[in-house]
Amino acid sequence: MSYNSSDFESGKCPHCGSSDVSKEHNLMNLAVAHGAGYFFDFPFDSSYECNKCGASNSDDCFIATAVYGDRNAPQVKTLRQYRDDVLMQSAPGRAFVKFYYSGVGRKAAGFIREKIPDAIPVIRTGLDWLIERYTSESQD
Ligand SMILES: [Zn+2]
Repeated sequence: MSYNSSDFESGKCPHCGSSDVSKEHNLMNLAVAHGAGYFFDFPFDSSYECNKCGASNSDDCFIATAVYGDRNAPQVKTLRQYRDDVLMQSAPGRAFVKFYYSGVGRKAAGFIREKIPDAIPVIRTGLDWLIERYTSESQD
């Protein structure tokens, strides 16, 4: 399940209705805001998580969505699966995912889309390679 931050703005979980929702002001977010943040010019989203059912607004593959143009593209779905099945299974992978979803992924995706759209085919080639490798491995 995935939600936008606006779904949480009422202070209630859009999934189960609980008001036990935590809103995080991430350190990484602040570091980016005070460091290179001016360069990106994007609003900083807060991350929300329901303490009751675990619903959050961060279940998105920002860069993949920017690259493939649709968060429901099959490649984006495969990358989400890769995140859950591969990255989340190891400590460094989990650290990366946490870092990525702390706002870095969202800002990077916006930056790529707005400032360096020429890089999209290059990133796409890399992601296609990863997807192909992952899908051929999981079929063995
Ligand atoms: Zn909930």
